[in-house]
Amino acid sequence: KPITIITIGMAGAGKSTFVQRINSYLHSLQPPRPPYILNLDPAVASVPFETNIDIRDTVNYHEVMKQYNLGPNGGILTALNLFTTKFDQVLDIVEKRADTVDYVILDTPGQIEIFTWSASGAIITDAIAGALPTVVAYIIDTPRTTAPATFMSNMLYACSILYKTKLPFILVFNKTDVQPHDFALEWMHDFEEFQAALATHNGTRDSEGEPTYMNSLMNSMSLVLDEFYKNLKAVGVSSMTGAGMSEFFEAVDASRAEYEREYLPDLERAR
Ligand code: GDP
Repeated sequence: KPITIITIGMAGAGKSTFVQRINSYLHSLQPPRPPYILNLDPAVASVPFETNIDIRDTVNYHEVMKQYNLGPNGGILTALNLFTTKFDQVLDIVEKRADTVDYVILDTPGQIEIFTWSASGAIITDAIAGALPTVVAYIIDTPRTTAPATFMSNMLYACSILYKTKLPFILVFNKTDVQPHDFALEWMHDFEEFQAALATHNGTRDSEGEPTYMNSLMNSMSLVLDEFYKNLKAVGVSSMTGAGMSEFFEAVDASRAEYEREYLPDLERAR
C-alpha cells in the first residue's frame, strides 16, 4: 500500500516548491518511484508539476465565485466543498492505483486555514487516512521563524493541526539553504534554551521589575510544546537545492509504522 503525504503550510512557506521537489526527487530515484499527485487548490494559477487528479478539472473556481457571488476565500472553500461531494470517486481512482505507486501526495490550498479548519478538509483527510497510511507534512518557512515568539506561534499552529488530525506528523523546516534549522532543533530539544532565547529577545521584566505577561505566558506554553515535540518528527530541507530529501522520506517511511500503531487502532475502535 502507498503512503499518503498531506502537505500543509502557510502561504509563502514554499509548499508548491516542496511538492515539486519531492516529485522530482522520486522521479530521479533508481528505479524511479513516481508519486500519484492530487491538487486540491482550486485557485492556483499553474502547477509546476504534472498532477494525476486536479480539483481544477472538476470545479471552475472563477465560475463558483461568480455564480454564488463570493469573494476569493469563499470561492476556494465552496469549490473545495463541491469537490468533496465527489471525493468517494477520487478515492476509488486512487485505490485502483494503490498497487503501482509508493507515494500519494495531496497538495492543499495555499490558504492554510481553508483546508485545516473546514468540514471539507476534515472529510478529505479522514477519508484518505481511512483508506491508506497517511502522514501530514507541515512546511515551515525557516528564515521567517527565527524569532522566538514567531517560532512558538508556528509550533502552536502545527500542534493544533496534529491535535485535529491525530495523524503522524513531520515538521518540514524548509529553505535551509538560506537559514539552517539547527536553532529550531535546539529549541525543541531543550526548552531552557528556548526560554533563554525568549528572554534575550523579549526581555523578562517590565518597568516595575515584574515578569511580563508575555514572558510568563510563553514560558508556560513552552512546557506544553515540550510534550508536543515528543510526538513528531522534524527534518530540514531545501526545496530549492534538494537538500534533506532522503531524510524527509526516511521520516515518511517511519510514519507508516506509527500510523499502524497509533492511528489505525483508534480508527477501528471508532468504527
Ligand atoms: P507556497 O505559497 O507555500 O506554495 O510557496 P512557494 O512554493 O510559492 O514559495 C514561496 C517563495 O519561497 C518562492 O519565492 C520560492 O522560490 C521560495 N522558496 C521555496 N522553497 C525555497 C527554498 O528551499 N529555499 C529558498 N531560498 N527559497 C525557497
